[in-house]
Amino acid sequence: MREGVPARRDPGAGCRATAYPWEMPEVSPSRRRIMQGNKSRDTLPELAVRRLLHRQGFRYRVNFKPEPSLRRSADIVFPWARIAVFVDGCFWHACPDHSSTPRSNTAYWVPKFARNRERDQDTTARLERAGWAVLRYWEHEDPEEVAASVATRVMLGRAAGSARSATEPTGSMPLGAESIVQR
Ligand SMILES: [Zn+2]
Repeated sequence: MREGVPARRDPGAGCRATAYPWEMPEVSPSRRRIMQGNKSRDTLPELAVRRLLHRQGFRYRVNFKPEPSLRRSADIVFPWARIAVFVDGCFWHACPDHSSTPRSNTAYWVPKFARNRERDQDTTARLERAGWAVLRYWEHEDPEEVAASVATRVMLGRAAGSARSATEPTGSMPLGAESIVQR
């Protein structure tokens, strides 16, 4: 998938919430704007992290399913290092610092946030069982720090991956095999 081309909408898949503002109970216009900002696929913090990583020479897949059979997408994926990165939106993923349940329709929102959190945990558990390292960050975190943290883990993973590839030739993909162009 090339950057800038939206992935096919796949209901039920992906780390993002699957309900969108237009299918929600009544909300105020300002709340609606916040939610629309939060549901977007390529959030600004995530873009910032990606740019920083790309500038440092890292190549990765975006909105990619690490294990196609699991039908869950991660935001940034390093297949050769088996690292899946999620930059979770504060609203949808109920960040303890910034999530505030809308005052109206709490009967809708409270279980919704609980389901999102459960799904996040389930996605992490499934990917880890499949041998992936899962890195989760909040969108409010400093992109520089997130990128540095991801870079460290990928470099460690790359070292481990090259050692593994000596015995498992199918286990890693060489850097540079990626066709994704990032800006
Ligand atoms: Zn937050």
